[in-house]
Amino acid sequence: MTMPSIYETLNSQLGPGIVYEGSDASKARHLHDFMYTMPAGTTPGAIAIPKTVEQLSTIMRLCHENGQPVTPQGGLTGLVAGSLPDPGGVALSLERMRAVIEIDPAAATMIVEAGAPLETVQNAADEAGFLFPLDLGARGSASIGGNASTNAGGNRVLRYGMMRDLVLGMEVVLANGTIVTSLNKMLKNNAGYDLKHLFMGSEGTLGIITKLVLRLFPKPQSACTAFCAVNSYADAMNLLGRARKDLAGTLSAFEVMWPSFYELAQNAITNLPLAGGHPLYVLLDALGSDQDTDQVRFQGMMERALEDGIVVDAVIAQSGKESTAIWGVRDCVGEFPRLFGPAATFDISIPTGKIAEFVADCDARLAAKIKKSRTVWFGHVADSNLHLMAAYDDASKELAEQIVYEAVREWDGSISAEHGIGTLKKPYLSYSRSPEELEVMRTLKAALDPRGILNPGKVIN
Ligand SMILES: Cc1cc2nc3c(=O)[nH]c(=O)nc-3n(C[C@H](O)[C@H](O)[C@H](O)COP(=O)(O)OP(=O)(O)OC[C@H]3O[C@@H](n4cnc5c(N)ncnc54)[C@H](O)[C@@H]3O)c2cc1C
Repeated sequence: MTMPSIYETLNSQLGPGIVYEGSDASKARHLHDFMYTMPAGTTPGAIAIPKTVEQLSTIMRLCHENGQPVTPQGGLTGLVAGSLPDPGGVALSLERMRAVIEIDPAAATMIVEAGAPLETVQNAADEAGFLFPLDLGARGSASIGGNASTNAGGNRVLRYGMMRDLVLGMEVVLANGTIVTSLNKMLKNNAGYDLKHLFMGSEGTLGIITKLVLRLFPKPQSACTAFCAVNSYADAMNLLGRARKDLAGTLSAFEVMWPSFYELAQNAITNLPLAGGHPLYVLLDALGSDQDTDQVRFQGMMERALEDGIVVDAVIAQSGKESTAIWGVRDCVGEFPRLFGPAATFDISIPTGKIAEFVADCDARLAAKIKKSRTVWFGHVADSNLHLMAAYDDASKELAEQIVYEAVREWDGSISAEHGIGTLKKPYLSYSRSPEELEVMRTLKAALDPRGILNPGKVIN
């Protein structure tokens, strides 16, 4: 007697329209994530797209009983190949669980299903008179559950924190199908372990997030933006200190761009705000509550920085249109792969005060081993987050990665600031985590997923 396939097992329990065969051409998008496609000739054994948490729980229970690997999928925009299914395993998409369930104005919270796109969440908050502050380029496709499972960051971390700081409660389905409902709405709740933190940043390896209680914030009523040139990283740090102190807690972005970034941006944008040739560029953004008073305070801070020689040249936006144009400089990175050519790309963290020395050291290490080495550096440096594109010419991408991650290890940084580990960074996890930390991670994994079915091959397992 032949054993039923995982598709047959799931389909017979869940009924029509929930589970599809891995070879179903209409569901082929589940064979890719943003980085990779499954190896040629391979497919998942089944693609499951439940509509309810009960259906999702049944799928997990059956996969657990049958020892079937399950890969959770949100909007498939992750940048570390974390949602690519196992050949023969189950791709489990949250795309049909996308309802905004409740907005509670008194608690300033929203309850939402995990498959809702980030932009849907932002718009729902906006319509209710609130701000949901997480924002990133993939907002139209990335799901809020994917954001939580990767602990996403983005442009406003300095002001509002990462996704971990924006979640109060959660519903999760464990590997064996158990539904754990913990839809806490309270800012203060120290009743034992705060379990939600286990599932944030664990990239679908410990449980499947099905609902979230999100924190909402007052909508900013003002935005002040400036683009400036500074002579050194020390001056950039000086400016950061002043902006933090003088802007009454409104500073929401402090983006630093190195000259190679600005040179490349000249090929993407016709009217750059400042002339080239400066050692470093900084974009500052402040979100406040009153445009008139905030603009006066912002302008005053910038004028003092110019008078004191901390800033050597600056443009301050006088309208929303000018602010958008300034942000266009930072956001033109989308054009860089085309303009720069093949490159290894990095999302790393280095303690903020050490960043300039790290950049110089890392450039020297790359130049010593890679002919015609070229790099582009930029980052949310106040969050300690650096992005790097490194051309590897006729050397290999792996060599560039080895050099950079080795440097990150020696400078006590992190190999992943905001994108996670997935499969791409897994070989380097031990560069940023001690053997003891890795052992605790393995203990948690074994306790919550004893059969190792949740997103195998990703992060730690
Ligand atoms: C243009 C662009 C810009 C980006 N900018 C940023 C940025 O500024 N900051 C940043 O942090 N990231 C950024 N990213 C990366 C990406 O958008 C984030 O990692 C995002 O949080 C992934 O969400 P997703 O729904 O697409 O998840 P997916 O890619 O589908 O999955 C990501 C991981 O989460 C797991 N997963 C998904 N849903 C669940 C769930 N419900 N429960 C448990 N596990 C789940 C998957 O198994 C996988 O391991 C960017 C990506 C792109 C393409």
